[in-house]
Amino acid sequence: MSDIFKKIGDTITETGKTVGEKTKQVSSVAKFNAKIISSEHSISDNYTILGKYYYDTYKDNPAEEVAETVNSITASLETIADMKSQILAIKGMVKCQECGAECPFEDTYCGKCGAKLEKPEPPVEEEAPEEEAVEVIEEIQDDTVSTEE
Ligand SMILES: [Zn+2]
Repeated sequence: MSDIFKKIGDTITETGKTVGEKTKQVSSVAKFNAKIISSEHSISDNYTILGKYYYDTYKDNPAEEVAETVNSITASLETIADMKSQILAIKGMVKCQECGAECPFEDTYCGKCGAKLEKPEPPVEEEAPEEEAVEVIEEIQDDTVSTEE
C-alpha cells in the first residue's frame, strides 16, 4: 500500500472515531486551555509583583535598560497624587501629609494627628474657550455651505 492510500486510510479511521471520543477530545482541549489561561494569569500576577518589587527597591537607581519604564511609573504616580490633591482642593479639603486624613482647607493643623497642614497651590481654573469653539464650528458650517454654491 502506497503512502497516499495509508494516509487516506488514517483519515478515514480518524473520521470514524465515535462521537464519545470526539467529545472527550473537546473537553480535554477545553481543560488544557483553561489550565493555560490560569497559568498565564499567574505569570502576569507574578510579573506585577516582581515589577513592583523592582520599582520599590530600585526606583531611584534603575538599570539603564529599564530606566524609561521606571521613570514612567514615577511620573504616573506623581500625576495621580497631583490629581488627587486637586480633587481634594475642589472639595475644599486638604490631605494631611503625616496621617493621610482629609481636613478642611481652612484648617492650619490636622484634626486627627495635629500635624501642620501643608497646603498645595489652589487649582488654576483653566480658561475654557467655549465661545471660540462655537465660532470655529460655525466657520466650518459656513465653508460647507459656500462649497455647495
Ligand atoms: Zn494628620
